[in-house]
Amino acid sequence: MRSGTGAAPVMTRNPVVIAGAGHSGVAVAAGLRSRGWEGGVLLIDAENELPYERPPLSKELLKDGASDESAVLRKEKFYADKGIDRLAGVTAESIDRDSRTVLLSDGTRQAYHRLVIATGSRARPLTVPGAGLPGVRSLRTRGDALELKRLLVRGARVAIIGAGYIGLEVAAAAAAKGCEVTVLEFQDRVMSRVTSGPVSRHFEQLHGRHGVRFVFGAAVTSIDGGQRAESVTVADGTVFPADVVLAGIGVLPNEELAADAGLECRDGILVDGDGRTSDPAIYASGDVTRFTSPIDCASQRLECIQNAQAQADRVAAHITGQAAAEPEIPWFWTVQHGVRLQTAGVRHPEDQAIVRGEPSDGKFSVVYLRKGRLAAVDTIAHLADFRTAKRLIAQGARIDPALAADPGIPLSEATSGTPNHSDADLAAARS
Ligand code: NAP
Repeated sequence: MRSGTGAAPVMTRNPVVIAGAGHSGVAVAAGLRSRGWEGGVLLIDAENELPYERPPLSKELLKDGASDESAVLRKEKFYADKGIDRLAGVTAESIDRDSRTVLLSDGTRQAYHRLVIATGSRARPLTVPGAGLPGVRSLRTRGDALELKRLLVRGARVAIIGAGYIGLEVAAAAAAKGCEVTVLEFQDRVMSRVTSGPVSRHFEQLHGRHGVRFVFGAAVTSIDGGQRAESVTVADGTVFPADVVLAGIGVLPNEELAADAGLECRDGILVDGDGRTSDPAIYASGDVTRFTSPIDCASQRLECIQNAQAQADRVAAHITGQAAAEPEIPWFWTVQHGVRLQTAGVRHPEDQAIVRGEPSDGKFSVVYLRKGRLAAVDTIAHLADFRTAKRLIAQGARIDPALAADPGIPLSEATSGTPNHSDADLAAARS
């Protein structure tokens, strides 16, 4: 199916082909048009529906009474008005870099002037025996979410493997629907990849108050059942009865298209600050990329919408030969049982964590210092700290730990020492 400008042959001039129509792919297409790109724009969309928002899939969409229609990223009319062609239900199978063409799953070959790989990521598959039984699910697409929603009925015993964003957001939705929820996690606390102990504890207690049970240090060894999943077994032999099993154990970048074409990949397609791959005619954007942080020089793959959109803008800017916006501090959010965690910056496990406020009050922040500078913040019901921290992280602000630990002192007044931008290491990090 061709949509957008209809069935007319697409793109006679300077076609930009975008493989992947998630947040980043659609943002590249929109960004090209808003920046005046007059050549063709073609979105290759593996799914057969209008590109949609992902955040509601593990939250609102699962609720009883919620509409099954998740929000679309752009209405059909947008693509038509902007002259963005969309091939739905089709995937890019391989790239011929010499002839600058992409082979599509419908057997056709599409020429490109510039190619943007925005293929995103996929749920990491559970590989234990029994993982293929009916009733074992993962959550990535709208179809996955609708199927899960159908299974989350009052009284259902739900075993969730992995206490990351997906596992916890689904645990909250399932508990609200009256399911019996057990979360099995490798690590010794929730969200260990993204946050520190105090925030983990806060969310564990919150979930506990809603009846969610956690088992930490749990290595799942098998899913057992006859016609469908009936239980989950962990390494110490404990068996957890389950009608539904959800694996939320992280994602893998969909980098094969790039890797098979000889582009440099290392757990993500390697790109520079403009989204350029090792081939000057090919860009990549979003979850599928790995790049050097302009903030701290760390090599990173960022799985968040803010990055998907910011990188898309940089790609669109570079293709059109325009200046891109200044790099933004990455930010993330999750909502569980109505409590919102907002994060700015990327915390490293070795960062010094300073708690501001009393978690039991339901309003607090944790600031993360790296070599004395503010590197990241987690905030719960504390928008002021979130906003201030974003600004201070961008400035490379040095923070006085004692001042930061006093919640009565605004974060903006907890800075210390030298002017923030003066240090050579910071300048080097951003050059
Ligand atoms: P995640 O945040 O990486 O969390 C997965 C968790 O599962 C980790 O703690 C991981 O531990 C653990 N784990 C891995 N293998 C396991 C196993 N076999 N048994 C038990 N635990 C295991 O990934 P996710 O929750 O699946 O989320 C997937 C993607 O969706 C991410 O990109 C996430 O950012 C995105 N997402 C974001 C939001 C949001 O921003 N609000 C909401 C939903 C989804 P290890 O670290 O030791 O592997």
